[in-house]
Amino acid sequence: MTSRNETLFQRAQQTIPGGVNSPVRAFRSVGGTPRFLARAEGARVWDADGKAYIDYVGSWGPAIAGHAHPAIVEAVREAALKGLSFGAPTESEVEMAELICELLPAVDMVRLVSSGTEATMSAIRLARGFTGRDAIVKFEGCYHGHADSLLVKAGSGLLTFGNPSSGGVPADFAKHTIVLDYNDLQQVEDVFKARAGEIAAIIVEPVAGNMNLIKPQPGFLEGLRRICTEYGAVLIFDEVMTGFRVGPQGVAGLYGITPDLTTLGKVIGGGMPVGAFGGRRDIMEKIAPLGSVYQAGTLSGSPVAVAAGMVSLKLTREPGFYEGLAASTQRLVCGLTAAAKDAGVTFSADSVGGMFGVYFADKVPASFSDVMASDKERFNRFFHAMLEAGHYFAPSAFEAGFVSAAHGAAEIDATVAAAREVFAGLA
Ligand code: PLP
Repeated sequence: MTSRNETLFQRAQQTIPGGVNSPVRAFRSVGGTPRFLARAEGARVWDADGKAYIDYVGSWGPAIAGHAHPAIVEAVREAALKGLSFGAPTESEVEMAELICELLPAVDMVRLVSSGTEATMSAIRLARGFTGRDAIVKFEGCYHGHADSLLVKAGSGLLTFGNPSSGGVPADFAKHTIVLDYNDLQQVEDVFKARAGEIAAIIVEPVAGNMNLIKPQPGFLEGLRRICTEYGAVLIFDEVMTGFRVGPQGVAGLYGITPDLTTLGKVIGGGMPVGAFGGRRDIMEKIAPLGSVYQAGTLSGSPVAVAAGMVSLKLTREPGFYEGLAASTQRLVCGLTAAAKDAGVTFSADSVGGMFGVYFADKVPASFSDVMASDKERFNRFFHAMLEAGHYFAPSAFEAGFVSAAHGAAEIDATVAAAREVFAGLA
């Protein structure tokens, strides 16, 4: 019998390229039919056939408090009743800016946008305008959204499809993007020695989450900070994924490093479209209308989205929030690792706060090439068997996973129990 997911997928492909509005959703990497989701609540999502799944995608990060958190939904409703969008300043966006500046020591001023892509694109433009230099350094496998200069050897969907650089990006743009290996500080030193006067910024996912999860090696982030300071380049931490996800001050707080600019998204919108970039006052003052670097948005600071984001951020401030989130994520990672070991399956897993990686490899990867060497076919079999059993992991071996505050021991243990059976079949 054809499922409603299949029927919808067929129909979607007639009018939407690939049937999806963002490539990874198409299940191309893992094969099969994407689940068309009809609703979500807490730790669970339901597909078009009414099947429930314990969800480890969390809308790719925003759903940190759990799906459809009642306080967020209520805030959205209240804001919507007062008007959806004004295109004029509002008190709520001032409150949001104040809260972000209060929570993140590296951020003196912040500008709200509507997506992570806008945040990183604007931060790059700002760094170029501030330094008067054109080149930027990024790392292979890091994804920073889909602005032209950042779609060079990127992660996430591009990696999934084996095409890490996008068509449609003029070589004249791409030549300003210097791509180095994540966790290889020597390469950064060398490139700055050779080309310092050209380089406006280093942009980095300070914990990488778009080539699966990769942590920075000791000294890597510290080295980037030192080099940027020495050569007058802008250090941009892209914390769109990690911001308010790995801890209350993102990766900057975890590792005690102060970037010049920080980009945010996902959690700060609580499931609505919000992104932000912020940082040093002297740099942020170069943005229009104060400075010459232009950046704007019809829906920027949308009152409805900001209302959702404010509640999302406030929920993360409740006592013990991050401790609980990290403990749940650890419980998952340890449970999966033990289950794989018992079944004799080569597997490892790791986590930072509420973010995790699962790898069909004998040790946790430290580099892009380590991730590439993991067993993708086995991941795909694991993914489908888990999906069948009602556990929704990211549909690609190259994406991090997310746990929410709504994932209690019961959900995590159910997933581990299912994985135990799945691993036995994979051995
Ligand atoms: N930066 C990072 C680190 C991301 O993970 C993403 C999206 O996954 C982006 C930027 C782009 O954000 P958006 O998809 O909201 O444009």
